[in-house]
Amino acid sequence: MTRIVCIGECMVEMAPLETPGTYRMGFAGDTLNTAWYLAKLLGDRARVDYFTAVGTDPVSDQMLDFLTQEAIGTANILRRSDRTLGLYMIQLQNGERSFSYWRGQSAARTLAQSGQDIATALHDADIAYFSGITLAILSQHDRETLMTALEAFSTSGGEIVFDPNLRPKLWTDPQDMTQAIMDAAGLSDIVLPSHEDEATWFGDQSPEDTARRYAQQGAGIVVVKNGPGEMVVHSDAGLSRHQPEQVSAVIDTTAAGDSFNAGFLAGYIAGEPLDQAIAAGARLAARVVTYRGALVEEAVLGPELAG
Ligand code: ADP
Repeated sequence: MTRIVCIGECMVEMAPLETPGTYRMGFAGDTLNTAWYLAKLLGDRARVDYFTAVGTDPVSDQMLDFLTQEAIGTANILRRSDRTLGLYMIQLQNGERSFSYWRGQSAARTLAQSGQDIATALHDADIAYFSGITLAILSQHDRETLMTALEAFSTSGGEIVFDPNLRPKLWTDPQDMTQAIMDAAGLSDIVLPSHEDEATWFGDQSPEDTARRYAQQGAGIVVVKNGPGEMVVHSDAGLSRHQPEQVSAVIDTTAAGDSFNAGFLAGYIAGEPLDQAIAAGARLAARVVTYRGALVEEAVLGPELAG
């Protein structure tokens, strides 16, 4: 059975309810969202684990309970008695969502202090999945520790999947960001970028440019997402294009990329041809954007996705 370890930060989410000043508490975060969709899509056919650091307080316990309940493995999650979870709050103003974050001191920022902890989490895994946000929350030293552990994982036959997820606000310097992203892509077998962000920070003129840049860095498969636009894919077969299905009523694009990655990887893990795996990713993302929120149970219930 395939074992996937997703590495990153899961935060407390406070989402506004109808009555002003009231919120519903949930848990979300880019790599966690992908883990959640992967667990739903793959069911008993794979084991999905999450690797992060959390506190020892009740809300951290609650997050671990949530992950367990969602069939995401928590056995290697680190506990820090002097820290707790990061949090974000969604504000709605005239129908527009904005996000405020409290994550500067989160426990997750310490996830890569020990290379041994990461090696233990990756032991016997087939796939490691992480993102540019995973890198952004770490100190330079810890980022290097993570890279070294991933390199060893790759050398021993593990497959590495990376979503650059560029978030300049989380970095002190855009050059640190672009350098770290390219270093991480250099270790990765599969890179899943979104063209819009890449164009801004790497100056790519087209999705083809983005695909070529990551392919030159060594990634065997690059799938360049582009919102509702055509995706460009680089693989052994060269460059190809894929039109995602059109969505007439987009409600909320939160987790579009994260769910795409999960749909795609679920197909890839099941051994589907690349085209089919990409179509599965786009189909899931197309459903997710028609609902509010990151984790959309209804989006995975269709028979052709649930498998
Ligand atoms: P991210 O969420 O990482 O910015 P994108 O916005 O590029 O990623 O979207 C990821 C995928 O989600 C796209 O490749 C597409 O399949 C789907 N998607 C996103 N926005 C739309 C949309 N407006 N209509 C249809 N599909 C969409």
